[in-house]
Amino acid sequence: MLIILLLPPGFRRFLFILGGLTLVSLLAGAFYPSGLIQSLISTSGPVVVVDPGHGGVDGGTGEQGGTLEKEINLAIALRVRDHLRTGGANVVMTRTTDTDLSPFVPGKSGRHRRDLAARIEKARKAGAVCLVSIHCDWSEDKKRRGAVAFYNPRNNTGKELACLIQEELNKVQAVPQKAAPGNFFILNQTGLTAALVEAGFLSHPEEARLLGTPAYQSRLARAIANGIRRYNRWYGNNRQPAVHEGLKR
Ligand SMILES: [Zn+2]
Repeated sequence: MLIILLLPPGFRRFLFILGGLTLVSLLAGAFYPSGLIQSLISTSGPVVVVDPGHGGVDGGTGEQGGTLEKEINLAIALRVRDHLRTGGANVVMTRTTDTDLSPFVPGKSGRHRRDLAARIEKARKAGAVCLVSIHCDWSEDKKRRGAVAFYNPRNNTGKELACLIQEELNKVQAVPQKAAPGNFFILNQTGLTAALVEAGFLSHPEEARLLGTPAYQSRLARAIANGIRRYNRWYGNNRQPAVHEGLKR
């Protein structure tokens, strides 16, 4: 204490301020978990909702005796999230564990529809720029393979999103595919830009094996994330200036 009193007044003031700042940061650390501080820092980018299809009681389509669709969807989606966050996007997941969004209620029908509605509600609440749902496909024709991005043909922004994701997917898959119009509940929501990616066919033995490997899941995830990033840039260039022009008039 005596040493502090002997120091010049300017330096004492400096030590006092430094001590105060340390105390404030220690208190902040004690009251707010680091995850919250992290999420407050990284909320500047566009909001993207990533939706791993199915989950919980709903396994999705299954590779016979192998991994369920819901597990592959989640593995790819978590990697998409990580890629996007690294690029500064603000990612909201509809689920991060093996759960569905509308628990089974005995005697009550429409569980699947309630589950999908809850996913859409999450995207709306988050004010998402876009939503990308991730699934795997199944066909009686065991030769069918390939990742395809689907869109609602009446939704121009959704089509742009799906086409950009498809271009990126074609860089990593064996047989290039075309983005396709699809009639999915999650794509038919007014005012919501959405694409649904069928990451491959679990009915195709070779593709099913690939879809189960972390390496291929990562390649697909990077492609999907790159497509979303390109869409966000396109949206920033084409949509926002139009709004600003409108405000000037
Ligand atoms: Zn599915």
